[in-house]
Amino acid sequence: MARIVMKFGGTSMAGIERIRHVAERVKREADAGNEVAVVVSAMAGETDRLVQFCREASSLYDPREYDVVVSSGEQVSSGLLAIMLQSMGVDARSWLGWQLPIRTSEAHASARIYGIDKNILAEAISGGQVAVIPGFQGIADDGRVSTLGRGGSDTSAVAIAAAMDADRCDIYTDVDGVYTTDPRIVPRARKLSKVTYEEMLELASVGAKVLQTRSVGLAMKHKVPVQVLSSFEDRPGTLICGEEEFEEGEMEEQLITGIAHDKNEAKVTLTSVADKPGSVAAIFSPLAEANINVDMIVQNFARETGNTDVTFTVPKADLARALDVLEQAKGKIGYKEISSDTNICKVSVVGVGMRSHAGVASTMFQTLADRGINIMAITTSEIKVSVLIEEDYTELAVRVLHTAYGLDAEDAA
Ligand code: ADP
Ligand code: ASP
Ligand code: MG
Repeated sequence: MARIVMKFGGTSMAGIERIRHVAERVKREADAGNEVAVVVSAMAGETDRLVQFCREASSLYDPREYDVVVSSGEQVSSGLLAIMLQSMGVDARSWLGWQLPIRTSEAHASARIYGIDKNILAEAISGGQVAVIPGFQGIADDGRVSTLGRGGSDTSAVAIAAAMDADRCDIYTDVDGVYTTDPRIVPRARKLSKVTYEEMLELASVGAKVLQTRSVGLAMKHKVPVQVLSSFEDRPGTLICGEEEFEEGEMEEQLITGIAHDKNEAKVTLTSVADKPGSVAAIFSPLAEANINVDMIVQNFARETGNTDVTFTVPKADLARALDVLEQAKGKIGYKEISSDTNICKVSVVGVGMRSHAGVASTMFQTLADRGINIMAITTSEIKVSVLIEEDYTELAVRVLHTAYGLDAEDAA
């Protein structure tokens, strides 16, 4: 007998027939004598639809009210799954975020889980009941419903697995594992049988949306083994685990583990910022106060004027708020003009092999140069190199890099 958390994503929950299929899978695990908690996403497309309603209502919507709207998708799918399980004779009950409760920070729309009361869950599952929990949502300190940021159901699932001391957390989705890059963009991508937490964390943080970044961070912290599996086919998936779980010689020999891209960032440029202490702080402090994450930063110094242009990226979803915050802080910062561009993409290569090998970045720059792809910004970490390029070149860039680093599947044409 094992204690498992099963998480089903939006495509897996899209419509009654698919929910029936999910219920059959859950029933199989419960019938085998396992203690099961299920975390579900909203039906595919539903959260996008709800987000769009908020945007249409106001571009500067109140995040507390956004959470009221967008958390509803998971409420529907969790109730439907509980009904479906009951109709198959499984003792099942849904528990919403506020009922358990799943307590979060007050950063509405991108809240962090800081505690899950496990009493209700423990009582339910040890009594043989299947607990169905809507992902993505919790209750903030202000007593209001909160959501965890897009893709947040993965984080709900891992947090519940950690709180329940589960043996594993199975993430069922519309691909059968983690690949060297998004298999929808590069058909030659290879499935990885095991990935370290560290690499998966980096891959997720640069756009491999198969898992939400914070879910991987939580899994790493609490040592929760995570499996990524297909909802539709019975076959081995990808195990995400610590380096110590790798057998001698099993670690990928590859220099690069994977390539990811992210089209969800927007570029902002402030021109003629004074080159003096405090200028950069004056730009980024109000953004931090508004809970807006800044990713890549480039500063260009112009010798003639003694001023600098500061370029950085923020999530596209936060662009309107970022521009608003920067307009309001214009007096304090003292820039000349502000401009933004949403037609950009960040492409990143990730691999622990980078620590011991030189030349990864130069291969990237040369490969892109050979295709005439211009690089607008660069960032690196110990195991990652990211570049900012024009969005139209995304697919081409990912494909040529995948080949350049020798990642193409051997059996591919
Ligand atoms: P879910 O709705 O189940 O949470 P997501 O759409 O969030 O599913 O994540 C699954 C998708 O992640 C896949 O359909 C795939 O296109 C994308 N993806 C991006 N990078 C990768 C990768 N390296 N390996 C597998 N899938 C990836
Ligand atoms: N439904 C939410 C989203 O689409 C959460 C999730 O599916 O993980 O972002
Ligand atoms: Mg997802």
